[in-house]
Amino acid sequence: MELPDFLEFAEFNRLRERMGAEQLGAFEFFDPRLHLTADERMALEAGIETGWAALRCMHDYTLAYKNSRVLLELQVPGTDPQAPVYHLAYCRILQNRRREHPQQNLMLGTRQPQASAWPKRVCPDCLQQLQFQGYDAARTRHRHYSERVLEEFDLIEFFQRYPIYPLPSKVLLALDSVG
Ligand SMILES: [Zn+2]
Repeated sequence: MELPDFLEFAEFNRLRERMGAEQLGAFEFFDPRLHLTADERMALEAGIETGWAALRCMHDYTLAYKNSRVLLELQVPGTDPQAPVYHLAYCRILQNRRREHPQQNLMLGTRQPQASAWPKRVCPDCLQQLQFQGYDAARTRHRHYSERVLEEFDLIEFFQRYPIYPLPSKVLLALDSVG
């Protein structure tokens, strides 16, 4: 079915003038490749399991699943006592891991689930990649400062700097998945 062009539709244009609505507004069609459904957003809060192909690296190196920034854990919670950190960025560790284990299962979430086996510490390499609050472990004279940034890291503060949702489709379309 072909829809008429409503911008040329005189009745609507008169109505728009009467309402004083000068802006046409922005509207995006729902695209399941880019946009999370309400159910998916809820699932992300609890953590979802997926592979590298579903993950995008933003221009600022933060991680995205569809139109949401995410945290990442390399193993399914409860199965890997070797994973003491969670990731926020496509850091050196993740880049290596992606090369060495392309079939790796990833756990993504938008928060640290309470009472779960998610690691409680943020990955220092991620802070380095983002230079979060000036974090730079390579600068010896800066070390105490960087240690403090790591110790005092706060996820809420992080998401104030890097808003979780929604990420603009235009940006997402320009990015490749990391897989
Ligand atoms: Zn990391």
